[in-house]
Amino acid sequence: MNRLYYRFSDYLRERYGQKVYKLPVNLPVSCPNRDGKLSEKGCIFCGEEGAGFESLPDCLGVREQIERNARYIGKNYNAARFIAYFQNFTNTYVKFDDFRRYILEACIEDIVAICISTRPDCINDLYLGFLQEIKRDKNIDIVVELGLQSINHHTLRVLNRGHGLAEFIDAVIRLNRFGLDSCAHYIVDLPMDTLEDVIEGAKVISALGVRQVKCHSLYILRDTQAGLMYEKGELTPLSPDQYMERVISFLEYLDPEIVIQRLIGRAPKERTLFCNWGMSWWKVQELVEEKMRREGRYQGRKFNYLNGGFCMRNL
Ligand code: SF4
Repeated sequence: MNRLYYRFSDYLRERYGQKVYKLPVNLPVSCPNRDGKLSEKGCIFCGEEGAGFESLPDCLGVREQIERNARYIGKNYNAARFIAYFQNFTNTYVKFDDFRRYILEACIEDIVAICISTRPDCINDLYLGFLQEIKRDKNIDIVVELGLQSINHHTLRVLNRGHGLAEFIDAVIRLNRFGLDSCAHYIVDLPMDTLEDVIEGAKVISALGVRQVKCHSLYILRDTQAGLMYEKGELTPLSPDQYMERVISFLEYLDPEIVIQRLIGRAPKERTLFCNWGMSWWKVQELVEEKMRREGRYQGRKFNYLNGGFCMRNL
């Protein structure tokens, strides 16, 4: 029987032979889409704390954050191996020497991988060359997480992302060239996107050889541009049924070897105007999985379009 989708927990067990937990690391960084370089407004959904709402304060050093979190998670989850996760804002948007120092601080025993969240237009060969050395010399896996959110460049403009599709394509090609893994963040239920956009997103991500994906549902925070639009009735979230259809279609067109870090996003409780239709993330995940089983659908079911697609097979 086909697996429903390639779960992150399965990948971690296959790769490291045991459970591995992420330890968030909070750097004193910003984002060019918030500090005025590209824009001062940020992406319309971005809150004050970026994505890192579960992190320790950024005044603590990298090593101290990792050690504190490892002690807590190690004790509560009986964990011995960890991923250092540079999560909030744009973690490559720092001077190279600072970036180098932060990453080296994270290279300690029991860290099997370093995961760095950034924008597609904020990574270049200097940083990638250094990360390649870390992977080779320290035997630590590197995953660079890139916000894409939508394949549709009109939607990217509405989201005020400040980059288009080309920057994402370029970043993934470069990561592949340096032998580093990529992870794409994708919001599958953007009301300004269509189901066809979402399917095309899965196809482009697969064609580029992206290694991991994080699917998100649209959440809306107070005091954000999306929050204002929501309160004025200019932004109406899709229904849970529409979300489920979109995320399952996305998975069907996705390469079955791409690891799914998550099927649904989470938001901070405070200041949240809308998130997951009032359900817990795991309830939505259960509903998606039930629907997939019921309808005989699975990741990669429609992954038949690369390398000449139908044309070459039917000669
Ligand atoms: S790129 Fe990330 S950190 Fe920057 S504004 Fe957008 S969501 Fe926020």
